[in-house]
Amino acid sequence: MMDGFSAKDLFSNAMGLTYDDFIFLPGYIDFPFDEVSTKTYLTSNIELNIPFVSSPMDTVTGRSSAIAMALLGGIGIMHYNNSIEEQVEMVRQVKRYENGFITDPVVLSPNHVISDVDKIKAKEGFSGIPITQDGTLDTPLVGIITNRDIDLIEDRSIPLKNIMSVDIISAREGVSLDEANAILKKSKRGKLPIVNSDNLLVSLISRRDLIKNKNFPYAAKGKDKRLLVGASISTQEEDKQRLDALVREGLNVVVIDSSQGNSSFQIDMIRYIKKTHPSLDVIAGNIVTEEQAKNLIEAGADGLRIGMGPGSICTTQNTMACGRGQGTAVYKVSKYAAERNIPTIADGGVSSIGHMVKALGLGASSVMMGSMLAGTEESPGEYFYKDGVKLKAYRGMASAEAMKDGGDKRYLNETAKIKVTQGVSGAVADRGSLYKLIPYYAQGLKQALQDIGLKNLKSLHQALYNEHLRMERRTLSSQKEGHVHDIYDYQNLTI
Ligand code: GDP
Ligand code: 5GP
Repeated sequence: MMDGFSAKDLFSNAMGLTYDDFIFLPGYIDFPFDEVSTKTYLTSNIELNIPFVSSPMDTVTGRSSAIAMALLGGIGIMHYNNSIEEQVEMVRQVKRYENGFITDPVVLSPNHVISDVDKIKAKEGFSGIPITQDGTLDTPLVGIITNRDIDLIEDRSIPLKNIMSVDIISAREGVSLDEANAILKKSKRGKLPIVNSDNLLVSLISRRDLIKNKNFPYAAKGKDKRLLVGASISTQEEDKQRLDALVREGLNVVVIDSSQGNSSFQIDMIRYIKKTHPSLDVIAGNIVTEEQAKNLIEAGADGLRIGMGPGSICTTQNTMACGRGQGTAVYKVSKYAAERNIPTIADGGVSSIGHMVKALGLGASSVMMGSMLAGTEESPGEYFYKDGVKLKAYRGMASAEAMKDGGDKRYLNETAKIKVTQGVSGAVADRGSLYKLIPYYAQGLKQALQDIGLKNLKSLHQALYNEHLRMERRTLSSQKEGHVHDIYDYQNLTI
């Protein structure tokens, strides 16, 4: 008995469908949801425990969000709306991250004053600051300042040298996290500085982290046991230098970031990377057709990024009259790529867990998101309030605002005198911490797969192509029915 339709049936007419235009039919459940695996491939060679990727956008992926994404089992892709040095530094910080150790602690000098600590507290949220001779990590540790040293002092212009603690309990570089935690516990202090033989500060351990007892069994790590991180570059000649610098830091995967990826510039760049850095995986895109996929796979792409115009901040389809319904794009490109064993990433247009499930069910191996991951504590930027709502800025990389900072490299119009925008800038509501949000999304995905009656993404893709995965079109009224309706007021809290 085969109720509903296969994807082949659904996508065989002249219409471009979006995620909302169809729905999967439920299958048979004979297993608990915790037997569902969300393991997947980002590229031919990189495996992830959860299929979530944070977009290379300057309001989405920075140091803290990339660390969180990798610790939780996904991956972050660093944006390139910055100097080579800045992007390299962001990658370095992820590669240097060790769970439990703060490897780039903020330090001050004895001549800084209490109000300098206040500024750090306001911006970063912590006030336990090691003091080094000249306020950099290049000179020896001479003291430490904690909240308790400064909280009751009214005069905020007092130099730290007058009040810092100098009887520091520290541990030597090379100490294991367990050993360091034991010393910290015994010391009853808030911080444990880790120093090398020259008394230079190498890292810091905080009591708050010890209490949280962070444990990340699904973390995305490479053979070197360091967190995985990706970075995006443009197809421009000068970005070859950017790439070399990123690779020197241990970059795991490069995303060639282009709004229309089927170009001679991109094909030349893929070939160049494969020749000069053969062990670096290359994600090419963006694309929405089989023909585009063919060109990029033949040039050597290890993964494909799908989407032209579905993004929440994106105006490409209206401005350029080019693009495709994201459901159709994901199905067509992924089916073609699957025959060549190349994983695909569904990029943009995801605004619910259901959309993530649909993207994967149409053949994508992972989902790249912007708006769903912006507005988190870890995403770049500061919170602000508007009309009483806590918000963070979120902007398209082809918005006028981002283009002023160099974000139009992916739109091949960097040299154009008149710049046509393909995105907007705005804000998204506070979503809390990625450390809660990503497990929430992952749990939703597991339960959805259970409803479909499948235990992992491999069997989801098998069912898609052998037509056991059944689905149907949704009329506008069925979409309306599927949303909250006919009630006076409601709240939809995430967690
Ligand atoms: P404090 O007592 O106000 O310094 O803050 P806690 O030690 O209670 O918490 C500091 C939190 O910020 C921990 O989760 C740290 O991992 C995190 N953190 C990240 N970078 C730094 C840093 O450079 N210095 C400090 N002190 N904490 C950091
Ligand atoms: P979202 O997850 O917010 O729906 O979409 C994020 C995706 O939109 C990004 O990964 C990227 O592919 C795309 N994008 C980012 N900025 C812009 C922009 O300014 N214009 C267009 N056309 N797409 C953008």
